[in-house]
Amino acid sequence: MPLLKYLLFLFFLVCVPSCANVRPDYVCIKDQDTVYDSVIIEIQPTEKCDVHSDSIKALIDCLDRYSIVDRDNVKIVRRTRIMTARDSWPSDKIKNLVVRHRRIFDLKDDRNLRLFMLFLPGNYNSVNDDRDSVAAFHRGRGEIVVFRNRTALGNTEVLLHEIGHALGLVDRDHRDGSPINEKRPQHCNNKKCTMFWIVNTTELCELCVRDISKLIPRNSR
Ligand SMILES: [Zn+2]
Ligand SMILES: [Zn+2]
Repeated sequence: MPLLKYLLFLFFLVCVPSCANVRPDYVCIKDQDTVYDSVIIEIQPTEKCDVHSDSIKALIDCLDRYSIVDRDNVKIVRRTRIMTARDSWPSDKIKNLVVRHRRIFDLKDDRNLRLFMLFLPGNYNSVNDDRDSVAAFHRGRGEIVVFRNRTALGNTEVLLHEIGHALGLVDRDHRDGSPINEKRPQHCNNKKCTMFWIVNTTELCELCVRDISKLIPRNSR
C-alpha cells in the first residue's frame, strides 16, 4: 500500500530526528553529594611567577573526583600580575600582598568555598619556624601561597595538598601514630597520599577520603 509506506516515511522523517535529542533523565541524577556547592579560585600571579592552566585543569579534575565540588561549579578568577623584584618573603610582606590583592571572601554560608592562590618568586623567609624550605603553605582562610623556587609553578599535587589543609583534612584523633612528627601536625602518615608532608601525588589515601566524606553532613540540605 503506497499510502501506508508514505505515512511511515513521514513518521520517521518527523519523529526520529527529534527523538534522537531526548536524553533519559537518569543521566542527570547525581549519585553522590559534594562538600561544596561552588568553589571560586582567585589566582594572583606575580611578574615572573604564574601557574599553568593545565595544572588548574588537573586540580579541578581532582576536586570533582573527590566530591569536593562539581567541576561545573568551579570558577577561576585570574588577577593581573603583581610586579615585584623580591625573592625572599617574610610573612608580613606576604600578608601585605594578600590583604591588598584578595577581592573574594567566603560568604556567611559554608557551602561555597573561596580560595586565594598567590604565586611568588623565590622562597619563604621565616624567622620563627623551620618552614624556609616549604614549597607552599595555607596561611588560613583559604589563602594559599606557592613559592617558585621550591615547586614547579603550581604543581597540581601541591595545590591539592594545600586545599586539603584549607578543608581541614587529616583528623589526628583517627590516625594511628599521627602526626608523623611534632613539627608536622595535620599531615597523613601514608607516603603515597597527597596529605603526606612531602607531596608527590594527587592520590588521597582511604583515610583522607573518609575525612572528606565527614565534611559532607555539615553541608547537606
Ligand atoms: Zn602540608
Ligand atoms: Zn592520607
